Amino acid sequence: MDIRKFLTIWFLNYCYKCYKMLFPLKLLSCYISGKLTMLAKLMKSVYQKTLNVPVKCEGVGLHSGKLVEMHIKPAGPNTGIFFRRLDIPDNPIINASYDCVVDTKYGTTLANADGTHVQTVEHLMAAFMGTEIDNAEVILSSCEVPVMDGSSKSFVEMINSVGKKEQIARKKSIKVLRDICVSFEDKNISISPSDTFSINYHINFSDPLIGEQTYEVVFFNGAFKEQICSARTFGFLNEVKALQKSGFALGGSLENAIVLDNGKVLNPGGLRYKNEFVRHKILDCCGDMYLAGKNLIGSIEANCAGHELNNILLRRLLGDKKNYDIVETVGQVGTLEEVKTRERVDVEKIAIA
Ligand SMILES: [Zn+2]
Repeated sequence: MDIRKFLTIWFLNYCYKCYKMLFPLKLLSCYISGKLTMLAKLMKSVYQKTLNVPVKCEGVGLHSGKLVEMHIKPAGPNTGIFFRRLDIPDNPIINASYDCVVDTKYGTTLANADGTHVQTVEHLMAAFMGTEIDNAEVILSSCEVPVMDGSSKSFVEMINSVGKKEQIARKKSIKVLRDICVSFEDKNISISPSDTFSINYHINFSDPLIGEQTYEVVFFNGAFKEQICSARTFGFLNEVKALQKSGFALGGSLENAIVLDNGKVLNPGGLRYKNEFVRHKILDCCGDMYLAGKNLIGSIEANCAGHELNNILLRRLLGDKKNYDIVETVGQVGTLEEVKTRERVDVEKIAIA
């Protein structure tokens, strides 16, 4: 055998051994990069959203009893949610912010520095949270958001009917870093660090139809729309006269609230859920918490809390920067199965083309 033939055989043999040695490593790296690619397809940065086009509705204010026309218009990135009063000269703006809350009796009222106010914002704010709207201008012809059917359903349907558009700014969330607890007499509410936003709510009413109810929602994959958005506000017949005498519930009716009379529902259609009451308390809590200006990432436990404790909790949480971190919102674009199905459909489309 001449030296050239010998060297060629030796070199080929050497290459084969190297290939055999590196093959498992290559397999491993393919596996890891495949997993990472799949993970990247599952999770992605989320951008802020606003409505595609303006929408409008008309209704009555639950407490003021006044007819009101409301327009919701798209707004620029990082502007947040803000209200504008069309019935007041110069059309003043009121920011939808926890530090603009001036009253929490039977609803959440916001006011600007001049004292111009907007009443009962919580059901609309909950709809914005549930539909992931970050920026919007809400124009009102009166002092109160219309109550519609007493839930967030109409607002969610209005927003979904025109759709949303992504904006250039990235969405940010408030990640809770420390436990915060607020209590007053037998009522309390707390928020703790978590990887998701969830609310666990407990109520206890003397009316036998309500009694004790507990419900927990992890706000993920449309949970707000499916479990919370249709739950209506409620009141008791024996309190209506006193409330109206003090200027509340002037627009209240069986069309926009569940009315209870000693264990009986007076609304002809009955309840939408057996535990509609606790679900509505969660809806109110969502709306109040969205006044933080961003989504919260934390776990809320509430026991007979209400608008006042909700607002105190936010003020405590956001009053000390050590309590939270502002993080870029990362969203899951689907389950592993959904991503795989989407890829299969794409491959089929290419094959057909
Ligand atoms: Zn409510």
